[in-house]
Amino acid sequence: MTRDFPGPDHSGLSVVIPCFNEVDNVEPSYREITNELGDYSLELFYVDDGSSDGTLEKIRALAAADTRVRYVSFSRNFGFEAAFSAGYRYASMPWILHIDADQQFPAAEAKKLVATAAQGYDAVFGVRTNRQDPLIRRWGTAAFHFVGRRVLRIEIPQGATAFRLVRAELARKIVDLRLGTPYFLATVPRLTSRYTTVPVAHRARERGESKVGMGFLSSHAIELFVGFTRRLTTAASATALFAGGVSVLAAAAAACGLLGAGATAATLFALLAVLLLVLSLTVRYLVVVGAGQPRPRQFYVREANVVVDVEDRLFTPEDAGPRLIDVQLGKGVSA
Ligand code: UDP
Ligand code: MG
Repeated sequence: MTRDFPGPDHSGLSVVIPCFNEVDNVEPSYREITNELGDYSLELFYVDDGSSDGTLEKIRALAAADTRVRYVSFSRNFGFEAAFSAGYRYASMPWILHIDADQQFPAAEAKKLVATAAQGYDAVFGVRTNRQDPLIRRWGTAAFHFVGRRVLRIEIPQGATAFRLVRAELARKIVDLRLGTPYFLATVPRLTSRYTTVPVAHRARERGESKVGMGFLSSHAIELFVGFTRRLTTAASATALFAGGVSVLAAAAAACGLLGAGATAATLFALLAVLLLVLSLTVRYLVVVGAGQPRPRQFYVREANVVVDVEDRLFTPEDAGPRLIDVQLGKGVSA
């Protein structure tokens, strides 16, 4: 017997599981999710983010054995934000539970999110009470939240993680915005005030390695810092403009012999002035022009066992059935 999702008007839960080279985690996470949450009317939505280690084969096998399993597979690795966005876009149930494939968030903890959502929220974010990640990651997250929330005043739910329960309609609206700097955590508060956080347990990763490196985390943070406020870019161009102005004065003073420096110093100050003024204009140009630029799609799907919009597919072969895209293999993979 399945029980209805305890929302007043909705039933059914799509569990979105992004996977990038998680071959050893696909089956254990499937078992944990179905054991812990199998009472709900459930869809397990796997997103293979261009894995090269056999993850997709594992997902295909699950899909062949269990009709609750749906998946899309990307044409290459498009990254974490793209992976869960595709899941949010194509999940079919009215509520979405995002859970990573590595089981760092215990599936049983989702019941806390469900109970809170039933109080009338559109999005409930898990907050790790006892985070089991390296110190550098914990400090990095603390610094990120400090800069984002306190310095730049961007509204993001304090401590919120990817372990979350969101109304599918809301999640889909956010994906469909196709923001140039997609950042789910910061976009939710722009669409609704009915979001909250709930403390949840956290585990260390047991199998496979973290796929999220410092390079990714810092560029993703910069996407937030420049995409969701103009404070940083305005400060950068204003600083360059100010320094450029000071350099102009210094160059003039040096040329008049006021600084006790010669023609070489005057030339250097003048060059610095030009450099800083160009930098200042470049920052403004990037902000203003960049805001209006179209961006490439966040992801492209190569294979799926759900219907995927034509524009989200990399190819549209004549022989692909409505429920199947498999250009690479040129044949069907699901019944
Ligand atoms: N992931 C993904 N694409 C990526 C990086 C990560 O789909 O480019 C998935 C990954 O397989 C995992 C989840 O996103 O299921 C979270 O990644 P990870 O556990 O490496 O992040 P961490 O917990 O270290 O922040
Ligand atoms: Mg993890």
